[in-house]
Amino acid sequence: MAFEGLADRLQGTIKKITGKGKVSEQDVKEMAREVRLALLEADVNFKVVKDLINRIKERAVGQEVMESLTPGQQVIKVVREELTTLMGGEQSKIAVADRAPTVIMMVGLQGAGKTTTTGKLANHLRKKHNRSPLLVAADIYRPAAINQLETLGEQLDMPVFSMGNDVNPVDIAKKAIEQAKAEHNDYVIIDTAGRLHIDNELMDELQQIKSSVKPDETFLVVDSMTGQDAINVADSFNEQLDVSGVVLTKLDGDTRGGAALSIKAVTDKPIKFAGVGEKTDDFEAFHPERMASRILG
Ligand code: GDP
Repeated sequence: MAFEGLADRLQGTIKKITGKGKVSEQDVKEMAREVRLALLEADVNFKVVKDLINRIKERAVGQEVMESLTPGQQVIKVVREELTTLMGGEQSKIAVADRAPTVIMMVGLQGAGKTTTTGKLANHLRKKHNRSPLLVAADIYRPAAINQLETLGEQLDMPVFSMGNDVNPVDIAKKAIEQAKAEHNDYVIIDTAGRLHIDNELMDELQQIKSSVKPDETFLVVDSMTGQDAINVADSFNEQLDVSGVVLTKLDGDTRGGAALSIKAVTDKPIKFAGVGEKTDDFEAFHPERMASRILG
């Protein structure tokens, strides 16, 4: 399960301070040091850790904590609030176009879980919001990608738009939106191509799709198991494509948690959803507060 090591360490640190009737500055310093080490070990970006620890220290030695009746618990409350803020604070909702269809473009590296997530998101929109999405196969390079999406569409009993792999992805996306209008699909989810590594050709293509269809959301799909790499990938994609949100996949694995805890701070883009397994139902809205509680126990 994700965050296991981090949760264990933080919960151990917290136990030491929770019951204290009096908390000294020294106690706070010690706790901050342990929290810092635990976060670094969990692969949280070091600058993110530094800022977070400074805020925690500043607040935890403040009057409101030191003079409260339960200072130990107040310190933990500060840590919980700061972790929640770090992951985005309020849960972030999906944008909706003024006029249907709402267009969502999925981007990310190959293997991050883009195609799977396209299906999961469509399933989520239908189940939770009673929507009727059209899935669009715009990854024309990976031979199996179109089939994979078509199979997902069959499983979900949902339409998939494809034009094979000889047509420019920009044209595919445009035609798909026309079809969605004609067929009254209120969401269009475009599965784009990925690569093993970021390259200019890929970015050019994604920028072209983005500028011609002007999606309401551009979701970056990031594999949370890839640690610091996930942060770097998110940073570059965001720089070049100005993404509107992040979907973290594979949170069911034994990820140390660094990506979940750093991405919002590094990109300033909210984590909107989390993939928590291989099945189409293994998908949830990302709640920073719940995630902080999961980590802190
Ligand atoms: P793409 O190349 O980005 O389109 O990636 P795929 O959608 O093909 O996914 C790559 C692999 O990751 C597949 O084996 C998926 O089943 C798996 N995968 C995707 N999301 C999750 C997730 O949230 N949890 C787990 N455990 N596996 C996932």
